[in-house]
Amino acid sequence: MWRSLDHSSPHMTVFQPTRIQNDNKQEIYVLLTASFLPADQTSSVYTCCYCEKNPKLKTMVKIGLQIKANLENVTNLQPDGEDFRWYVKIKCSNCGTVTESWQYLTLTESTPTKGGRGSASMVSKCKMCSRENHIDILKDSYKAYNAEDSNKFKTIIGFECRGMEPVDFSPRVGFQAKGADSTTQFEVDLTEKEWADYDEKTNLPVSIDEFESRFVTMK
Ligand SMILES: [Zn+2]
Repeated sequence: MWRSLDHSSPHMTVFQPTRIQNDNKQEIYVLLTASFLPADQTSSVYTCCYCEKNPKLKTMVKIGLQIKANLENVTNLQPDGEDFRWYVKIKCSNCGTVTESWQYLTLTESTPTKGGRGSASMVSKCKMCSRENHIDILKDSYKAYNAEDSNKFKTIIGFECRGMEPVDFSPRVGFQAKGADSTTQFEVDLTEKEWADYDEKTNLPVSIDEFESRFVTMK
C-alpha cells in the first residue's frame, strides 16, 4: 500500500505524509498518495516529505497583518470581540497556490489537526498538492490602530503559520473605534475600506479612509 523511501530518485510525485503504526507497532510516517504534477512545478514541490524531520513540514513562520488608514477624529480602531472574523486569502507555502475564495479565521473557532495532536484556527488541505496546513491567531498580538498611527503601517495582529500564509486581507464588519476627544464608541464597517459617522458629543464628523493592508514576516 505504501512506497519505500528512496532518497536517490527524484520524486515524481506529491507526497502526503501520514502517521501509521508499522508491523513492530512503531509510529512512522508513510506516503499514502502520489500524483503527477505539471512539469513546470518541479523545483518547488519535489522535496521529500517522508520523514518527520523534514524541515518543510515543521517550518513555522509568524506573519503580521499591517494596516494603514487615515483616521479623522477617531482612535483605538480594533476588532470588536473575540468572534471577529479575519477574512483572508491563503497561499500554500509548498506549491504557491492561492485560494480563490475568502476564508476567515476567528479566535472562537478551531479545528483539530490531523493526527489529533492539537488544533488550529484554520486547518486546510491544499487543493493542488494535498498538503494539510495550519494557521493560528496569535491572541496576544492584537494591537489597536490609533489616531497617531494615521497614514503609517502598523501591525494589528499576528498569525502563526505552518505550510500556508495569508496573502490578502478583506476588512469587513466588526471593528470598533472611539472618539479621539470623546468617549463615544462607534461600530465600524470597513467593507468599503472607508467609513464615516458623526460624533454627537463633540459635534464633529468622524471617518476612516485611505485604508490599505499588507502582510509582513514577524520576528
Ligand atoms: Zn499546495
